[in-house]
Amino acid sequence: MQNVAIIGAGQMGSGITQYLAMNDITVTLIDYKETNIRKASKTIETGLNKLLSKSKISEEKFLKTINHIKYSASLELCREMDLVIEAIPETLSKKKELFHKLSEIMHESSILATNTSSLSITKLGSMFIDPSRVIGMHFFNPAVMMPLVEIIRGLNTSKETVDKAIAFIDDIEKKAVFVQDQSGFIVNRILIPMINEAIFVLQEGIATSEEIDKAMKLGSNHPMGPLELADFIGLDTCLAIMETLHKNLGEDKYRPAPLLRKYVEGNRLGRKTKKGFYTY
Ligand code: NAD
Repeated sequence: MQNVAIIGAGQMGSGITQYLAMNDITVTLIDYKETNIRKASKTIETGLNKLLSKSKISEEKFLKTINHIKYSASLELCREMDLVIEAIPETLSKKKELFHKLSEIMHESSILATNTSSLSITKLGSMFIDPSRVIGMHFFNPAVMMPLVEIIRGLNTSKETVDKAIAFIDDIEKKAVFVQDQSGFIVNRILIPMINEAIFVLQEGIATSEEIDKAMKLGSNHPMGPLELADFIGLDTCLAIMETLHKNLGEDKYRPAPLLRKYVEGNRLGRKTKKGFYTY
């Protein structure tokens, strides 16, 4: 699949775009906000410049990668794509609206992959004209570095779509794991409740953010503490995942920490708004 579009030029969309372009795929990054497109292009260029200055890529690779990326605000470009990867916010109504629009645009042998962290692939599939062409392709943050991609087959996803997705992940040299279509899949089912529990520990005054992160780094050998990781992921995304786990799995242990909800209500979303559990 050589013609690929990514929709949503946020943290994940820009990371996936950079990674694919570095692997010689022509990518079109689409966002409805021009400001976010400009921000993404700057982030990608800064990221590539860093790799260049550390001699991790050559000047030729730098230029080739930049030339592989197109930016646009028009969904119409998805008409010519073999693969569209959706990376817009973790809100079902937003994804539903997008899937309806893409149903009118994408061609009959193309695939629609979603980078959702927790929403049902089966449900998202039902919002597209052909559910057999919808698959979960869950990249991790930062997408340029993290090798894993969770592949999730919805109830109506065809074998052909699964095979194409696997071939694509192989081609771009990421590592795939296969997961049943259940909320949070593997990683977020385990990771996000742990982050949520760290927020309860903070909320109950048991320790400060710094102490919680230090404890988990030095005591559990985690490379990042749970609260700095939450800021990195985005607190809105963490809350959306907890809400989905709570709603779909129905257990009290998945209830979002009130402090997490309060931070999101106050637009303290972590690194992306420069304020979360820490100030950036
Ligand atoms: P983000 O908030 O950083 O970026 C979302 C982008 O989508 C924004 O630029 C926004 O303008 C754009 N957008 C919104 N609606 C749009 C539309 N209809 N058409 C075009 N663009 C639109 O979000 P993110 O953190 O990159 O997350 C995106 C998806 O990836 C979510 O489903 C999330 O759960 C998942 N995800 C996030 C992480 C993470 O660590 N943040 C990791 C893996 C997966």
